[in-house]
Amino acid sequence: MKTIEDFNFKNKKAIIRVDFNVPLDSAFHVADTTRIEAAKPTILKILEDGGSCVLISHLGRPKNKEDEFSLKHIVETTTEILGVKVKFVADCIGEKVANEVASLRPGEILLLENLRYYPEEEKGDVAFAEKLSQWGDIYVNDAFGTAHRAHASTTIIAQFFPENKCFGSLLASEIIHVNKVLKESQKPVTAIIGGAKVSSKITIIENILDKVDHLIIGGGMAFTFIKAQGGNIGNSLVEDDKQALALEILKKANAKNVQVHLPADAVIADTFSNDANTQVTNIYEIPEGWMGLDAGPKTQQQFAAVIKSSKTILFNGPVGVFEMPAFAQGTITVCEAIAEATKNGAFSLVGGGDSVSAVKQFNFGDKVSYVSTGGGAMLEMLEGKTLPGIAAILK
Ligand code: AMP
Repeated sequence: MKTIEDFNFKNKKAIIRVDFNVPLDSAFHVADTTRIEAAKPTILKILEDGGSCVLISHLGRPKNKEDEFSLKHIVETTTEILGVKVKFVADCIGEKVANEVASLRPGEILLLENLRYYPEEEKGDVAFAEKLSQWGDIYVNDAFGTAHRAHASTTIIAQFFPENKCFGSLLASEIIHVNKVLKESQKPVTAIIGGAKVSSKITIIENILDKVDHLIIGGGMAFTFIKAQGGNIGNSLVEDDKQALALEILKKANAKNVQVHLPADAVIADTFSNDANTQVTNIYEIPEGWMGLDAGPKTQQQFAAVIKSSKTILFNGPVGVFEMPAFAQGTITVCEAIAEATKNGAFSLVGGGDSVSAVKQFNFGDKVSYVSTGGGAMLEMLEGKTLPGIAAILK
C-alpha cells in the first residue's frame, strides 16, 4: 500500500483529491470544518517536502454551474486552517488552470473549482480524467468520503499515474483502522449493529459474521428479529418482509458460534415524540399502541457487559432514537462501555452514519480509538466491498 510517506515531493506538484464537500451556512461560510482539517496532514507533509499542492474536490450536487456550489466559498477558511494562503482558480480544466498550475511554486497551494460543474466527473469520463491528470506529477487520493465512487477524479485518473500514485494519510488511516476490525482483530470481537432498518445493514451483518464473537443487535432493526421470533412488538418499527431473513441470520450466527445479543427490554412510548408517555417492558411483550424507542435498563446492562469484555469493537448504528433525549440513554450507555473498554486497551471503531453523529453528540469522539469520516464509504468497506478509489491506487 503506497502512501505519501513513500514519496519525496521536493519540486513535485501533487494533485490531491480531497473531500472538501463541506456544509455551508446561509452566508456561504463553512459550517463544519472537519473535512478540511482532516486533509491538513497530507497537504502539510507535501509542502514540508518542498512540493506544491493542486487540490481537487466536489461540493454538493450542482446541476449547472450554480454559484452556491463554488469552492471559492471555502478558500478563506481553508487558508486559515492550513496556515498557508490558498490560491483559487475558477475552473478545473482548461487554459486558465494550465497557467496557474505552471506558475505554482514549491510551498504553494492551488484549489481548483468544483469538479462536478462538469458532468464528466460523476460519469467517470476518461478524457476528463486525463485533462485533470496534467495538473500534477503525483496523484494523491485523500478523499475517503468518495472512495466508493468510480468518478473521474477519485478512480479513473489513477491510470494516468501508473507509478506515481498513493493514498493520503486520511485515506490510509481509514484503511488501516477498518482492517484492524475486519482482518487483524484481537478477540473477543464485538459488533454493535443498530439503527433503523435491517435491510440497510444486512450485507454488513453477513460480512462480519465470520469475524465477530458477539453480535449486538439494537435499535429499530431489533424489532424485526423479535417479531420473527413470535414476540409482540406493538407499533414498533418493523420490516415484515425481512422476518425470514432475520431468522436466517440467527441460524447462520449460531452455526458460526457467534453469540447474538438481542434486547431483553425496551423503553416504550405511546407516540414518536420526546414528550410521549413512556414505560419499560419486556421486549417480547410490547402492548398495542406502544413502540420501543430505546434499549431498556436490563438490555443496557447486558450490552455494556459484553462490550466491556471485548478487545475489538465495531459500533455501527445507535440502539435507540438518540436524537430525542428521552430515548438517548441506551446509546449513551453503549458509548460509555466502548470508552471504558478502549481505556482498558480495546480497539474501537465507530463507523457509518448515525453512530458517528451519536458519538460526537455525546462527546465520546476522543474516547474511542477511531471515528471514521466516510459514511457510505465506510459502510461499503464493512460490507466487504473493494472500493474503486482504493483499488485504483493498489492496481
Ligand atoms: P441508520 O441510519 O439505519 O443507522 O438508522 C439510524 C436511525 O435509527 C437514527 O436516526 C435513530 O433515531 C433510528 N432508530 C434507532 N432506534 C430506533 C427505534 N427503536 N425506532 C425507530 N427508530 C430508531
